[in-house]
Amino acid sequence: MSKFIVGLTGGIGSGKTTVANLFAELGICLIDADLIARQVVEKGSTGLAQICAHFGNDMLLETGELNRSLLRETIFNHPSERQWLNALLHPMIRIEMQQQMTQAHSIYCIMIAPLLFENGLDKKVNRTLLVDLSEEQQKKRTQLRDNVSEKQIDNIIASQMSRNEKLSKAHDVINNQGPQSALKEQVAQLHNQYLKLANSAEHTS
Ligand code: ADP
Repeated sequence: MSKFIVGLTGGIGSGKTTVANLFAELGICLIDADLIARQVVEKGSTGLAQICAHFGNDMLLETGELNRSLLRETIFNHPSERQWLNALLHPMIRIEMQQQMTQAHSIYCIMIAPLLFENGLDKKVNRTLLVDLSEEQQKKRTQLRDNVSEKQIDNIIASQMSRNEKLSKAHDVINNQGPQSALKEQVAQLHNQYLKLANSAEHTS
C-alpha cells in the first residue's frame, strides 16, 4: 500500500495526463479522481440507484446512464440538493480512493485531480503538485486536443481556480510552458524528492 499520496492538478489542457504518464513510466501507480467520480454513478451502480430514488427516473438517459446535464442543472438551482448529492457521493468516492491506495504497490502514488484545491482534496493528500502554463497555451493545446469552441474553454477556465491562486497553494510546480521534452527532467527530479519524502514518512509512521 502507498501511504504517501501526491495530488496532481492543473487547469484543463495544462498537461496533467502527460505528466502523470511520465510518473507511471517510473513505476508509480496512478489514481484518477475524475474516473472514480464517474464510476460511483455508472450504470447499475448503487450511487445511481440512490440518485434515481431521490430525484426520480428522469435522471436516467434512455441508455440507463446518468443524465449528467440534468443533474448538474438541478443541483445548480437547489443548494440543498447539491448538499444531499455530496453527502451521498463523497463517502463513496473516499472509500474507492482508499481502496485504490491500498492496492497501489509503488512507494508513493499520484492522484490526478483537476479540482484538487476547489474540492478540498488537497487536505487529503501528503503533497500537491501543480502543472502550470499560461492561459493562452492552455487554450491552444485544449483546442488542438478536443473539438471544443473557444467560448466553451473560456467557461471551463473561468469555473476553475485562478492560475495565481493555485500557484500560491501548491507545494511543487511543473512548468509546462516549454516543449514536452522539458517535462522528463522535471518529473525525474520530483520523483527523487517524493521517494525520499515517502521513505521518511514510512519510517516515522
Ligand atoms: P490535461 O490532462 O491537463 O487536460 P494533457 O496532458 O491531455 O492535459 O495535455 C493537453 C494536450 O497538450 C495534449 O494533447 C498533450 O499531448 C499536449 N501537450 C502536453 N504538454 C505539451 C507540451 N509541453 N507542448 C505541446 N503540447 C503538449
